[in-house]
Amino acid sequence: MQVESRLFIDGKLLPAASGRTYTNLNPATETVAGEAADAGLEDLDRAIGAARRAFDESDWSTDHAFRLRCLQQLKAGLLAERESLKQQIATETGAPLGICGQGGPQCDVPIGFIDYTLESLPRFPWSRDIGVAEMMGMKSRRLVEKEAIGVVACITPWNVPLQINLAKCIPALAAGCTVVLKPAPDTPWSATALGYIVEKYTDIPPGVFNVITSEDPVTTGDALVRDPRVDMVSFTGSTAVGKHIMAAASGTVKKVFLELGGKSANIILDDANLEQSLMSALSVCFHAGQGCALQTRLLIPRARQAEVEALLTAYFGYIEYGDPASESQIMGSLINARQRERVLAYIEKGKEEGARLLVGGGKPKHLERGFYVEPTVFVDVSNDMTIAREEIFGPVLAVIAYDGEEDAIRIANDSDYGLSAGVWSADEARALSVARRLRTGTVNVNGGNFYGADAPFGGYKQSGLGREMGAEGFEEYLETKTIAVGVPA
Ligand code: NAD
Repeated sequence: MQVESRLFIDGKLLPAASGRTYTNLNPATETVAGEAADAGLEDLDRAIGAARRAFDESDWSTDHAFRLRCLQQLKAGLLAERESLKQQIATETGAPLGICGQGGPQCDVPIGFIDYTLESLPRFPWSRDIGVAEMMGMKSRRLVEKEAIGVVACITPWNVPLQINLAKCIPALAAGCTVVLKPAPDTPWSATALGYIVEKYTDIPPGVFNVITSEDPVTTGDALVRDPRVDMVSFTGSTAVGKHIMAAASGTVKKVFLELGGKSANIILDDANLEQSLMSALSVCFHAGQGCALQTRLLIPRARQAEVEALLTAYFGYIEYGDPASESQIMGSLINARQRERVLAYIEKGKEEGARLLVGGGKPKHLERGFYVEPTVFVDVSNDMTIAREEIFGPVLAVIAYDGEEDAIRIANDSDYGLSAGVWSADEARALSVARRLRTGTVNVNGGNFYGADAPFGGYKQSGLGREMGAEGFEEYLETKTIAVGVPA
């Protein structure tokens, strides 16, 4: 596996100015996988300066045909490097090849998503004529024009790093913005690989795309957000850091686009087929529960609790995990030791607050290495318990019993978050009417899946501001200008 460990600044792959590097750890084996450049403020300053200059002084933002060609080259480069990318992502995330490998959501799916942008870009209406209007005796012909917002700081998390890096950088570049990408310290290669591919395969001009990796996320991240040369911050990560970013960006009144945490509810209505619908509860094991939109609260009709417990015990018993090379496993390790301790502390909190542990609850006995936590199910959870309110980001399911449909909707909406949800019913119209009453950005009904290049994704409430992917995800990176041309009387 060949790895790019350097920064990408102003069209060049470079070590950090200080020469410092830091260790990239494989969380599934706890072994050192390699290293990444440890950028400091000097490197960041050069990256932002290059992005600003490329935006202000080149025709990147106005030459739509050139940008399309460059993005086609980028897609071709990603495809050419796909096998290496999969290995790198698996190595630094601890996700098994069942997720990173053939057709998986860590690599193939997000590369495929680029086609949506490539196909929609040539059709995008950059200017629209809204006609002539009279105002205070003067006639004007009005044009509404869309323009790139400017320099965008893309700050990304470690859970699905290539997917989120691409979900931000591709529409930002397509819109005509220039980019400084800062990934999470735990997953530097999913970003440095993009620097390598841009340099090797594309004509993207120097300064248009830059990558800064750093062991200390706060110093570089904070400086990036505050810098007056940056016009927009596109952030995915925790709600706590999102709030900090919103505050830090306010000093320069820059646009902030936030994809934050979730505590999504999966509502099993009383007429649903339990055998089928409860299979969806296993999604908390996907990537060891490190997914913002996973449905971590399972809402069940109280009268059916005994059946639910029997089925969940059986289903969670089938989950296999612990082999990073497995093409069939969907659960890997947690990202680092700190995250594992955090998840285990939530499990202890659940027990202390009176929830009953049905499955799992500790470190797996059969694995000596890797930051794994057992698939875990709590029952008898009430919605005011910590494990029902806070995002755990581990393979932990909280089962909450409800009394009637209204109660289920009330519990689902009783959350600071509003990212996603699920509804199951034998009656699709009933499920849809419940879905429409949920205060969340996405809802899966009867096993549907919202995830797609053309489907906007994002949160209500403290799950975020704005939308990623789809037409809405592209327009986040645009400014709107109204031009009024005087019409002679
Ligand atoms: P995090 O908030 O700790 O970090 C996210 C990014 O912000 C990283 O690049 C980090 O280095 C950077 N950062 C940290 N402190 C910063 C600061 N003070 N200023 C600027 N940047 C800073 O999140 P994480 O632990 O990497 O990822 C897990 C979180 O991400 C979870 O809460 C999860 O729900 C969320 N997430 C949300 C989505 C979504 O689309 N809604 C998707 C994936 C993950």
